[in-house]
Amino acid sequence: MDVVVLSDIHANIEALDAVMAHAGPFDEVWFLGDAVGYGPDPEACVQRLIDVAPTVWLAGNHDHAALGKLDVSDFNPEAREAAEWTTAQLSDAVRARLNACLPRLDDAARDITFVHASPRSPIREYILNAALAEAAFDSFSGPLCLFGHTHVPAAYDEAIDGAVRHPLIAETPLSLVGGRWLLNPGSVGQPRDGDARASYLRLTNTDADGWSATLQRVPYDIEATQAKILAAGLPPRLAARLEFGW
Ligand code: ZN
Repeated sequence: MDVVVLSDIHANIEALDAVMAHAGPFDEVWFLGDAVGYGPDPEACVQRLIDVAPTVWLAGNHDHAALGKLDVSDFNPEAREAAEWTTAQLSDAVRARLNACLPRLDDAARDITFVHASPRSPIREYILNAALAEAAFDSFSGPLCLFGHTHVPAAYDEAIDGAVRHPLIAETPLSLVGGRWLLNPGSVGQPRDGDARASYLRLTNTDADGWSATLQRVPYDIEATQAKILAAGLPPRLAARLEFGW
């Protein structure tokens, strides 16, 4: 089993296409939500995802905002402006596809929990540190929970005296055997860990070795995305931040 795990594409088609080209052959794609919001190509990104056909496809807070399912009064002004712009871009078909997604999925067959934000609060909570990860471990039962939302790649495992954060180093496999794990693939379309390259996770499972996770970072044409953001009249800071990965 060879899985490409994506999250937080945020309407960045250049980043999504670069990741899919980098990924090559795979068995499945699992997508943890926020196809749209912030970026200039919401319609194209959802259409591309429909072609990719993820077997897991969650809704994120920005997807809900674009559908009018989430109160955006706690979004920052740029996110709110982008959400309103995004709403006006979506076709009925894309709206219907996003509307079919949920922010949490407990997959009994795979024994994996998928959430956009956190298992306690699948649409809102940011798991940003080990203390928050420790609380999250109480809200799912299996050995593995995949989450997004922070735009920062992360791996936590549950030790006897609390959650421990493990470094995720690009191209370096992390074995998940014999523990309980919370894993975040980072963001395809708007990374926030200081590395501007698109981020995703490769999960592989063999009978002999069990699951292992490998972070992947992929350069893409940031200037093309920035130019589209500015041409669309979206807030300029949404273009600038892509360059810094923040
Ligand atoms: Zn997001």
